[in-house]
Order: sequence, then C-alpha cells, then structure tokens
Amino acid sequence: MKIIAIGRNYIDHAKELNNPVPEKPIFFMKPETSIIRNNKPFFYPDFSENIHYETEIVIKINRLGKHITEKFANQYYNEVGIGIDFTARDLQKDAKEKGLPWEIAKAFDGSAPISEFVLVKKFENINNLNFSLKIKNELVQQGNTRDMIFSFDKIIAYVSQFVTLKIGDLIFTGTPAGVGKVHINDHLEAFIEDKKMMDFLIK
Ligand code: ZN
Repeated sequence: MKIIAIGRNYIDHAKELNNPVPEKPIFFMKPETSIIRNNKPFFYPDFSENIHYETEIVIKINRLGKHITEKFANQYYNEVGIGIDFTARDLQKDAKEKGLPWEIAKAFDGSAPISEFVLVKKFENINNLNFSLKIKNELVQQGNTRDMIFSFDKIIAYVSQFVTLKIGDLIFTGTPAGVGKVHINDHLEAFIEDKKMMDFLIK
C-alpha cells in the first residue's frame, strides 16, 4: 500500500507558511513504514529539531482505479479516519530552499500515525466534518473539511491521472492552520467531531 498526502489544501494553512494557494492539488507520498497504529508512541527522531504536527482527515481507498472521474470518485472510498502528517520542518525548509524533494522531511519512519477507520456513511456529510487536535489537553488545531480547496473527489480524480489507486491506499487530505512543534512527553489527542480517534505520546 501507499500513502498519498496533499499539501496546502486549506487556504489558512498555505498562508501561515507563506505559500501560494495552489491551482492544482500538490501531492507527495509516504511509505508504509511511516505508519503508526493503535496509539503507539511517536519517537522524536534525532535528525530534526523542529518536528511539526499536521492534523489531517484520511480516506481509505477500497477499489482499484486509474483515471477516475470526479463524478464517480466517491465510489472509491468508504472509510474515513484521522492522521498526523509529521513533518521535519527544518529539513523541509532546507529542501524547499534548494528546490529538492520533500521525502526527507515527510516520509521518515513513524511520520504517519493513523486512527482506526469509520464508515463514511456513519457521517451525515463528510464534506462538512469537524476535526481537531489537542496537545496536553489544549486545543491547538481545528478544521472542517468544507474548507478544503480540493474536495476528496477532486483529489482522487487528480491523483489517479498519474498514480493507480489500489485497495488499502490512504490519502492524507491536508492540514488546516495551526501547525506547530511537538516536544518529547507531549500527549496528543485527535478528534473527528466529538469522537476521540487517537491518543498517543511523543517519546
Ligand atoms: Zn500535511
């Protein structure tokens, strides 16, 4: 399986990092070894001094597809969860300045903790879904999927022109504003609506 992640999909987040608002989705990938499940801790890596959290809604692909049209894209996922797109912001800044790829800052081991997945049909409308992150019991990030620049269906249509989507693939759909540093001993809790989906420690 693979993880596809969308960059700059919320205007307020693009602005907070002084990035232009994209005209087309920007995507990058994380390998399977980036996943952390079951609320296992994230071990702060020694190659970075500035690991940021980015809280994102994640959809799980349940059909094989290529060149999927936006109209039919909603038939290619039926589960939704939440994840943290951990980013080594110092390494990313360096890569950006040199025009280099982002993998070093985005694809490292443990950089993609994910929750359990919930059936899409359990929600009234996943295009109007509140989600949030608390660190040490303080609300640090909140978003709503209605503010995405590119909807789930638009993302699937766009990405599948380039990359075949396979059963079990995950798509991280971008972070709202409020990204920031994590520190050793931080306690992270991620929510979709009022339901706590993740609860883990930075070690
Ligand atoms: Zn992200």
